[in-house]
Amino acid sequence: MVIRDKLFIGGAWVAPSGKQTIDVFNAGNGERLGKIPLGDEKDVDLAISAARAAFDGWSGASPEWRAGYLEKISTGLKARADEIARLIAQEVGMPLKLSARIQAGLPIANFANYAKLVREFAFEQRVGNSLVVREPVGVVGAITPWNYPLHQITLKVAPALAAGCTVVLKPSEVAPLNAFVLAEVIETAGLPRGVFNLVTGTGAKAGEALVKHPGVDMISFTGSTRAGKRISELASQSVKRTALELGGKSASVILEDADLAAAVKSTVNGCYLNSGQTCTALTRMLVPESKYEETAKVAVEAAKSFAVGDPLDEKTRLGPLTSLQQLERVRGYIKKGVEEGAELLVGGADHPEGAPAGGYYVRPTIFGRVKNSMTIAQEEIFGPVLAIIPYKDEEDAIRIANDTPYGLAGAVWSKDDAHAQRVARRIRAGQVDVNGGAFNMNAPFGGFKQSGHGREAGVYGLEEFLEYKSLQLKG
Ligand code: NAD
Repeated sequence: MVIRDKLFIGGAWVAPSGKQTIDVFNAGNGERLGKIPLGDEKDVDLAISAARAAFDGWSGASPEWRAGYLEKISTGLKARADEIARLIAQEVGMPLKLSARIQAGLPIANFANYAKLVREFAFEQRVGNSLVVREPVGVVGAITPWNYPLHQITLKVAPALAAGCTVVLKPSEVAPLNAFVLAEVIETAGLPRGVFNLVTGTGAKAGEALVKHPGVDMISFTGSTRAGKRISELASQSVKRTALELGGKSASVILEDADLAAAVKSTVNGCYLNSGQTCTALTRMLVPESKYEETAKVAVEAAKSFAVGDPLDEKTRLGPLTSLQQLERVRGYIKKGVEEGAELLVGGADHPEGAPAGGYYVRPTIFGRVKNSMTIAQEEIFGPVLAIIPYKDEEDAIRIANDTPYGLAGAVWSKDDAHAQRVARRIRAGQVDVNGGAFNMNAPFGGFKQSGHGREAGVYGLEEFLEYKSLQLKG
């Protein structure tokens, strides 16, 4: 059991104002993994005061000086990479090897990357008689989800600090233990007091207190569209800037001339990454009607190759879901798919054979002949559930791909790259993979429509935390 009973505020570990705690569970077996403080409005208030007090010093220092701290944080995380990978494998359920590469690896890379980017960034530009300068937004409230917990924290904290902002972080209460490791690394790196603060708790209490507080200049949020709407409402009361990274229901469009086997296997992998708990998961596979039978066969074979098991077991390719609540939700969607008449090709709502008892496991599931109007094609399931949707022609495919409230990601497959690109340009989403193009940590990440607004990652993520100021000069 990992017991955390203090919050990191003003450069010190302080006791929370209340006595209540939140339990954290091991996704692999359902046992208690840890305990964290249930922070409240008073804790949030204290953290914001600390961040405000630290702002002038931190924002006034040179980018070069701040970059040095980011490098130290990257080095500190690297030294604890094995511990982080293991912790998140248990908190979230991602298989250990992947957790090492993604959950621990990306934060290390991103802190180092922001040190480099802020050194190269042009903070000033002359436009006619004006000097246009970029200044940090101020105190940032960062609110993050549980699926890639430290990565999502990093995509806010690293660029915010680089830009010169100070931060109060409210991580997910479902997978919060990794955030304490980051706070320790930041403490060891010797950041000035109050530049980074950690308050744990629920969204309804600590989260909303942060959003409502007049001392916060910007809320950077990643999570569900439901919470994103509520945050927009609350933030509007103080005209606070928000950046919202929300849900998705992304389509993989396989065109007539694509290498079908490669496209289908890659889509199944993209859907099942992190047990489907990935906001950019390719959860709708669109195939020409004439290719449906062949597609279904390849997809089912691919799904069967995902060995379900404990995330710490080397043979596991599909770990559990993160929480009991998530397990019930995903099972509910699988039942709904059957009720609405989709063909269950593989998987189902029962406990996967051989998976450890007590953990939150779901069978890799595929529905065939799904209509895009069905609930399982419209709502974000956040589990290993793929919907195969046949289409008539290319126009029909593009229409279906865009026919959801979301617009986060997508994929297009064709033998002809130029053709795939033309179709990709017509998909209303923030990032579209063309013929399996690789993830790029410097490319902008974010959504259209109800997937949110604002961009994270690379220089785009840095600009998110900067304001423009124009100095009109005489000469
Ligand atoms: P969630 O919205 O329930 O919670 C996310 C965070 O917001 C948590 O820290 C939570 O405590 C807090 N929160 C909840 N309600 C709040 C409120 N009213 N005020 C302030 N804070 C509040 O989401 P989740 O279940 O943790 O994460 C899964 C969701 O996140 C999925 O919908 C997924 O698509 C989305 N997501 C999006 C991206 C992206 O970049 N677009 C990345 C990862 C996850």
